[in-house]
Amino acid sequence: MAKTPVVKNQELTVTIEDLTYEGMGVAKVDGYPLFVDGALPGEKVVAHITKAEKKFAFARMTELLEASPDRVEPKAKAYAQTGIAPLQHLAYPAQLKFKQHQVETLFQKAKLDIEVKPTLGMDQPFGYRNKAQIPVRMVNGVLTTGFYKRRSHDLLPLEDFYIQDPEIDKAVLMVRDLLRKYQIPAYNEADNSGVIRHIVVRRGYFSHQLMIVLVTNTWAVDHLEDIVKELTEALPELASLMLNLNNRKTNVILGKKTRTLFGHDYLEDQLLGSTFRISPLSFYQVNPQQTEVLYQQAIDAADLKGNETVIDAYSGIGTISLSMAKHAKRVLGVEVVPEAVHDAKVNASLNSIKNAEFVVGKAEDVMTKWAEDGLHADVLMVDPPRKGLAPEFTAAVGKMLPDKVVYVSCNPATLARDIAALQEFGYTAKSNQPVDMFPQTTSIESVTVLTK
Ligand code: SAH
Repeated sequence: MAKTPVVKNQELTVTIEDLTYEGMGVAKVDGYPLFVDGALPGEKVVAHITKAEKKFAFARMTELLEASPDRVEPKAKAYAQTGIAPLQHLAYPAQLKFKQHQVETLFQKAKLDIEVKPTLGMDQPFGYRNKAQIPVRMVNGVLTTGFYKRRSHDLLPLEDFYIQDPEIDKAVLMVRDLLRKYQIPAYNEADNSGVIRHIVVRRGYFSHQLMIVLVTNTWAVDHLEDIVKELTEALPELASLMLNLNNRKTNVILGKKTRTLFGHDYLEDQLLGSTFRISPLSFYQVNPQQTEVLYQQAIDAADLKGNETVIDAYSGIGTISLSMAKHAKRVLGVEVVPEAVHDAKVNASLNSIKNAEFVVGKAEDVMTKWAEDGLHADVLMVDPPRKGLAPEFTAAVGKMLPDKVVYVSCNPATLARDIAALQEFGYTAKSNQPVDMFPQTTSIESVTVLTK
């Protein structure tokens, strides 16, 4: 093997120059990058090499010699090992700048001349998440809830998750204590044995309704009636308690089958004055306060006058579609998860919206068909998952040529790629607006408007 500038277990003093998109400090040794966990730009640290590859190395910080003025005291130690909040040691204003800078860097690399505006952040960047998916495992013979140690499936016990709605943390502990009381065996990944795999909790930020889903390896859970009775008595906000069966050896959290144990088979919440029903298998934005900010950006960007046809691709439970329907002639939503489309239809009638239709399907297939049928959209809204737009989707946009594309992105890398592809059809973007949906983490959400 060729000689690398550093070797495993070597210790050296370095100055951190940058942060990767994953939040690791970057130092250079004769141009060779060193990724130092937990170190911040401007800091001088002693780095212990944990892995040396041909083109780069990873290191652990063993000593902080000069701290960045942006360094803040992290929360509990076990918490820092989970990777739930990889930017928690960086002051919040610096986190917002980091996100803006990440988008700028990716745009520059893709040769896109687009202004990136300062990230819109939160006043209280903790306790914001409305959803938790908590693994349950045996730790030293005791049923335990917490989170995995980074890059592993070793469960670290945790009671305070800091970025979640504190009412969710409380509900998780309530469920954990009942599972302990009735001696329900926790799931064991090694041999796919045991009963309880995950506790999934959602809480409506505006409605204060709680939904709890117990994800189990079998429908046969001992003492289920007692557990339901005690939970409903202990949690007055409980609107829905469900059992979800997942008996496969998989990292996917929810199985396909769900049974209602108490209340409804959905949760209700409000966004921008409309009410939404959310099924356990449907996507719903996890930061409701910032979702309103994000959607408002998208609505303002669409600049609807009332006579437009709008396509909302990747429409989920119809939150963006229905927020736009009030200002447009017609909205067409397309979404791949059937439960979410069902929710979207119910949500339309719940809010007396008659000019929104929803189709189940892959956005790339349905969009291609719409383009072939000669359907024209004045505004195309897209809000794809991390992998961005499928090439067939982009091709269909080139055929339909909507006047405006409003792109809500949760991954600036695929956003840059997709904007570059849309430029080929004559679209340009002037600016990008990041909105911080995930404080303390490295995730970046943003809105871009493309016009012809
Ligand atoms: N706009 C919605 C949902 C955005 S999340 C909101 O703001 O709540 C992205 C959505 O895309 C998810 O609901 C996911 O189920 C859906 N999805 C993923 N791949 C898809 C595809 N190929 N075609 C259509 N929808 C897809």
